[in-house]
Amino acid sequence: MSQQGSYVAGSWVVPRGDEFRENLNPSNLADVVGRFARSSAALVDDAVDAARNAQKAWARTSPQTRADLLEHVAAAILADSAALGELLAREEGKTRAEAVGEVVRAGQIFRFFSGEALRMTGEHQDSTREGVSVTIHREPVGVVGIVTPWNFPIAIPAWKIAPALAFGNTVVFKPAELVPASASALAKLIELAGFPPGVFNMVIGAGSVVGEAVVTHPGIDAITFTGSESVGQHVATSAAERFTKVQLEMGGKNPLVIAADADLDVAVEIAVNGAYFATGQRCTASSRLIVDRAVHDAFVERMLARMADLRVGDALESSTDIGPVVDSSQLDTDLSYLAIARELGHAEVHGGERLERATEGYYLSPALITGTQNHDRVNTEEMFGPIATVIEADDYEHAVALANDTPFGLASGICTTSLRLSEDFQRRSDAGMVMVNLPTAGVDPHVPFGGRKRSSYGPKEQGAHARQFFTQTKTAYVRA
Ligand code: NAP
Ligand code: MG
Repeated sequence: MSQQGSYVAGSWVVPRGDEFRENLNPSNLADVVGRFARSSAALVDDAVDAARNAQKAWARTSPQTRADLLEHVAAAILADSAALGELLAREEGKTRAEAVGEVVRAGQIFRFFSGEALRMTGEHQDSTREGVSVTIHREPVGVVGIVTPWNFPIAIPAWKIAPALAFGNTVVFKPAELVPASASALAKLIELAGFPPGVFNMVIGAGSVVGEAVVTHPGIDAITFTGSESVGQHVATSAAERFTKVQLEMGGKNPLVIAADADLDVAVEIAVNGAYFATGQRCTASSRLIVDRAVHDAFVERMLARMADLRVGDALESSTDIGPVVDSSQLDTDLSYLAIARELGHAEVHGGERLERATEGYYLSPALITGTQNHDRVNTEEMFGPIATVIEADDYEHAVALANDTPFGLASGICTTSLRLSEDFQRRSDAGMVMVNLPTAGVDPHVPFGGRKRSSYGPKEQGAHARQFFTQTKTAYVRA
């Protein structure tokens, strides 16, 4: 069994002794994907030193050099998408098709930011004072600390690492401990591309040790974090103590409104995709289905019929629609919310049963909790599993009010055939991303990504907007 380490200052650092964690396949617990280092906080110090030492020279490289290196990574990811996708499905449990799709997305993101390296544009303006000109320079932020969750093991690292490097920053990256294999595979492709040592560093290990060291390190100039609200709050608080720039993407409780005039076949496909694909483990998952009373019973009936066709199984089998839950702790969380729903009295749980398959894994059938109220815990707390609720709305106005009545604001959606409702919902939805006749999950890489309220904090990610976080401006006044 290979033992894998961290990547610091251009070298792989494998700990001596037995500071390792076994990475298990959630579809088959007998399958050990690898043994990965549990690095120390001292290694984060080394990584930050390496990143600091490399940063000034990296910031001075020609944008073409940075573009070429990023394009090299993009091409390598895309060329290897089948194998990388298999590895990702094996360690995280989303289906092979979903995993390959995520890998291709990661390649496209590196390609997009390869181009962005050449568009690090400043601005030139006449001063209000005669004979003076003003130049607004755009510069890197410095050393960027990157902390990522387990549910998109390669795409989320890609959409933070690629813009950081494109704009002349150096990186200390801490991936989630549940998915170090995909992160290490990405790190190897970055190594092969030939970046100068210290420009990109990855330290793998526990969030409480390595993550904590990254987000509290005085040598880090900006922190971009995706994960849970509780850890995100801690990251922001400790960043504020040092006035460190911070960007957070956190949880969601995303509403999908089914209007009275919705095409119900379309609505059911969108709801099934948004709620259950990727095992419901997406921050943008459609977790609250808010259904107009006029179509409530017909929608629920069709949902239950469609759900009965969904095949839960081994992530690597081609017949599988929904892979296993990622680990035992997430499975316990899912089962505990189903138990809470069963005790409500006014709600009914359909599905949500533990399933046995040929291999031992964390298999759970998709669950629909009908008859819920918006203030029930299953509607106020993020569950992060293949579980959706149904909330009956009196009419469209009531549906909009319910959709916005949540502490979160990541994504929202509406199924409607009316132009009027489509326009109205786009305007009134209090979410960072709004979908019409599309699942709440599933976004493009070249436009801003992020939410409002307790879902996001700081500048948005992705697309041309990524420069707001990964660069800073300097305003220069010149009298010639
Ligand atoms: P998490 O538990 O918050 O962990 C996220 C990352 O933070 C992991 O790398 C974790 O390390 C690390 N970490 C833990 N404690 C830390 C600390 N004290 N200091 C610094 N880092 C620390 O989240 P998760 O369970 O991996 O992911 C699920 C969550 O991510 C959900 O809430 C989901 O909504 C959210 N998410 C949001 C988006 C979005 O864009 N809005 C996208 C995807 C996921 P370990 O893994 O080693 O513990
Ligand atoms: Mg967690």
